[in-house]
Amino acid sequence: MDLDRSKSEAEFLEHVRRVIKDRIAPEYPHGRERKTTPRRMFEIWGAEGLLGFTENEGEITQTPWLKNIHLYKELAAYSGGLGIATFVQGQLGNQALFLYANEEQREEYLRPGIKGERSFAFANTEPSAGSDASAIKMTAEDKGDHFLVNGMKAYITNADFADDIIFTAITDPSAEKKHRGISMFIIHGDTEGLTRTRLKKYGWKGSHLCTLRFENVKVPKEKMLGKPGRGFYQTMEIFNNGRIGVASLAFGAALGAYRHALVHARKRQAFGTSLFDHESKRNEFADKLAHLQAGWLLIQKAAFESDKGRDFKHFSSLAKHYNTEEGLQISLWGAITLGARGVIEQNPISEFPHDSLVSMIGEGAPEVQMKIISEHIDEILDGL
Ligand SMILES: Cc1cc2nc3c(=O)[nH]c(=O)nc-3n(C[C@H](O)[C@H](O)[C@H](O)COP(=O)(O)OP(=O)(O)OC[C@H]3O[C@@H](n4cnc5c(N)ncnc54)[C@H](O)[C@@H]3O)c2cc1C
Repeated sequence: MDLDRSKSEAEFLEHVRRVIKDRIAPEYPHGRERKTTPRRMFEIWGAEGLLGFTENEGEITQTPWLKNIHLYKELAAYSGGLGIATFVQGQLGNQALFLYANEEQREEYLRPGIKGERSFAFANTEPSAGSDASAIKMTAEDKGDHFLVNGMKAYITNADFADDIIFTAITDPSAEKKHRGISMFIIHGDTEGLTRTRLKKYGWKGSHLCTLRFENVKVPKEKMLGKPGRGFYQTMEIFNNGRIGVASLAFGAALGAYRHALVHARKRQAFGTSLFDHESKRNEFADKLAHLQAGWLLIQKAAFESDKGRDFKHFSSLAKHYNTEEGLQISLWGAITLGARGVIEQNPISEFPHDSLVSMIGEGAPEVQMKIISEHIDEILDGL
């Protein structure tokens, strides 16, 4: 693994920073109350080629993870809410379509999705099925030319404004193993019988978290995504990839907090000198930087393995686990470094501890990451 940033990764990072500074910050500045995800943001990301895929002379190419990690890191250091909204569009919506859509579905959804002209939500979680993702109860009953869908989805990002909802439901209740009876679908967000409600939450401010109620929703047969009975496995494939992105979002929150804390500590005078000049405080900066560097190396490793097409599941769990646990410590410490300023809402640093906390839950709680890691202990040890 080459630890040097390649020329094209460095250019990508520069591009991301420029887009945030020149196109996002003027429309979505710090200090303004961030209540929503402006729909226009998707068009900006799409036009700048930052929704996980690019299209060149009709050919769709996936952006390598070694580049994407910079996108989610920088976005989360600016606004976690924008970070998760962009991640869901690129890595859950577009990704699901890239992997499983047939030719017709690719034309209808994926091409406009890459440009940000069509937006998506990805719904697997239900009130009674989160970590245990195969325990879903939503049903899709085969009625000949369509499926009749009933049930609830919960805690779904972007779902109230998304043009289309990708979701999972049980199509074969008699399947010997419940994992094998689940299929994946895509429907328009305004379909009759579908009710979308936004929840109030903290963390990833401005992003939308929603519940979806399906009451006798008719889903045409051709709206199945991928193969019948493969919906659970398809979801796991998407989530395994996604964990590298959520690890990067968690890292970005910690990095954002660290950057703000450093600027403040160098300026703020206390006891006759700057905060940073106090040895105990300076040592804290050194200690937190060691954790940041370690966290970034884990993210790079997961991205590298994924880009190589190798089994990376355990590396993405290592990256997510470490960066969410350590990231929470760093973002809390960063906010404390600003004293009272750290809890004032207009101060961007007040958002990072909340962002760190929600990043622990999204794409799998710590115990789920540890479960995956513990199943690969020998492989991981062999690589050390
Ligand atoms: C901000 C946000 C955005 C989200 N966006 C989406 C989305 O777009 N689409 C979507 O489908 N879902 C989404 N989710 C849902 C998310 O994937 C689930 O919340 C997550 O998988 C945890 O499920 P749960 O909330 O039901 O908690 P549970 O599964 O009930 O877990 C609660 C706690 O129990 C413990 N636990 C769970 N399993 C084990 C175990 N095996 N061993 C030991 N302890 C365990 C853990 O401490 C865990 O935190 C989002 C969640 C959040 C917070």
